[in-house]
Amino acid sequence: MAFNEATISNNGIVRPTYIEVNLTRLTENYRAIEQAVAPATVMPILKANAYGHGLVEVARHVVSLGTPYLGVAFLEEGILLREAGITAPILVLGGIIGNQVPLFLKHDLTLTASSIEKLTQINEAAAQMGVQARVHLKIDTGMERIGVHYYNADSLLEAALNCDHCLVEGIYSHFANADTAVLRSAQIQLDRFNQVLSFYESRGLPPPPLRHMANSGAILQLPGSHFDMVRAGILLYGVYPAADVAKTIAVRPVLSWKSRVVYFKVVQPDHPVSYGSTWQSDHMVRVVTVPVGYGDGYFRRMSGQAQVIIRGKRYPVIGRICMDQLMVNIEWDSAYNNDDVVLLGESDSGETIRCEELAGWAGTIPYEVLTNINTRVSRLYITEKEKGA
Ligand SMILES: *Cc1c(COP(=O)(O)O)cnc(C)c1O
Repeated sequence: MAFNEATISNNGIVRPTYIEVNLTRLTENYRAIEQAVAPATVMPILKANAYGHGLVEVARHVVSLGTPYLGVAFLEEGILLREAGITAPILVLGGIIGNQVPLFLKHDLTLTASSIEKLTQINEAAAQMGVQARVHLKIDTGMERIGVHYYNADSLLEAALNCDHCLVEGIYSHFANADTAVLRSAQIQLDRFNQVLSFYESRGLPPPPLRHMANSGAILQLPGSHFDMVRAGILLYGVYPAADVAKTIAVRPVLSWKSRVVYFKVVQPDHPVSYGSTWQSDHMVRVVTVPVGYGDGYFRRMSGQAQVIIRGKRYPVIGRICMDQLMVNIEWDSAYNNDDVVLLGESDSGETIRCEELAGWAGTIPYEVLTNINTRVSRLYITEKEKGA
């Protein structure tokens, strides 16, 4: 792929540290999930800057694929999408505060109603503004985060029937343990949700048209939870939610994180490298410096463990990872200024560093690795065709 420096400039300043988002893979992952869950549809989850992949760009892409609904965590994320011209329905998954309701309505964002009180606030605000609020009811079946408890849900469902200014188009719940090998607790949550939904049948009423519960773990492992729509987060980005989840749908990582060598030097024995002087060699080594650090989301906790790929080969990051830079020991191999450095993803030689591996070095989960790559890092959007060119 031709390295288009202008494309990845941030405010006109070119920095060699960037993320490559492979839109072809995003399409493939989306289609694979879509096919696996049909006739249920797919709501891509775009919270936290689309898991680090870029909120607006990912939204535009999945909208171009025909997605019926987008999901974000917060009001602000929904507004950003509206301001970027996205007109698709957007569900805000997070809890709401009463005074935010008019902003939701102004931007035609779908609200999560997680209690009777909130539903009433929504209905009243909508009445005042003379609009219909799009609402999804949130049932807590065991996560204990937001939502009306499953054992108290009837009153919320009942109240929703009488909200003239609300279009109750959805009802949903969220799993606490759908990505584990043992699915006992997930099954209990699913049973509870089905029990809540029986409210409609027992009254001869149609349920809200969008019943949804499945996150990535449940998309993979609990077909019975797919209902009308699934909420695809990390799986859409080509990463499995946990190591021991059943990988029933093949996906590939969308994101690579790359940089370039900005400095080369020879380090003498007994001359420690970086803050705290935690690393030194007993022989002469070649060391290169790479302009990325914990200020970009390359966790400092990975010091002494992380590896990068240069010229198709893995090398250790040595000494403490700094805010903006890190050092790599290439022993006596060759490397030059401007050489590609792969921090995450595939190198041209095929050597790969996976998100799970970074998560292991950092003592965290892939979700946190992706969402911590911050906006100081430029994002470059490519398709396979461009890549092959
Ligand atoms: C984040 C989130 C999802 C997506 O979770 P993944 O495990 O990334 O698929 C789905 N639903 C809700 C309510 C969420 O908060």
